[in-house]
Amino acid sequence: MHLFCKLFHHEFVIKKDITHYVKEYECIHCRKQFTTSDTGNLTPLTSKRREINSELKSLHKKRSQKTSYS
Ligand SMILES: [Zn+2]
Repeated sequence: MHLFCKLFHHEFVIKKDITHYVKEYECIHCRKQFTTSDTGNLTPLTSKRREINSELKSLHKKRSQKTSYS
């Protein structure tokens, strides 16, 4: 683990918007990736979670067709 993260906290940037409330984050110090869990907390981004997120994203896209995506 990065020293900064040990002493303080992970410092996240949003990597991907999945839905309004689910996002994928990456720590700018240690590059560890996280995502929003079902309970609204941050959880490590596993390959399974990534799969769920991409499915969630395509479902979300279908539901909000007013918004145009490229
Ligand atoms: Zn970190």
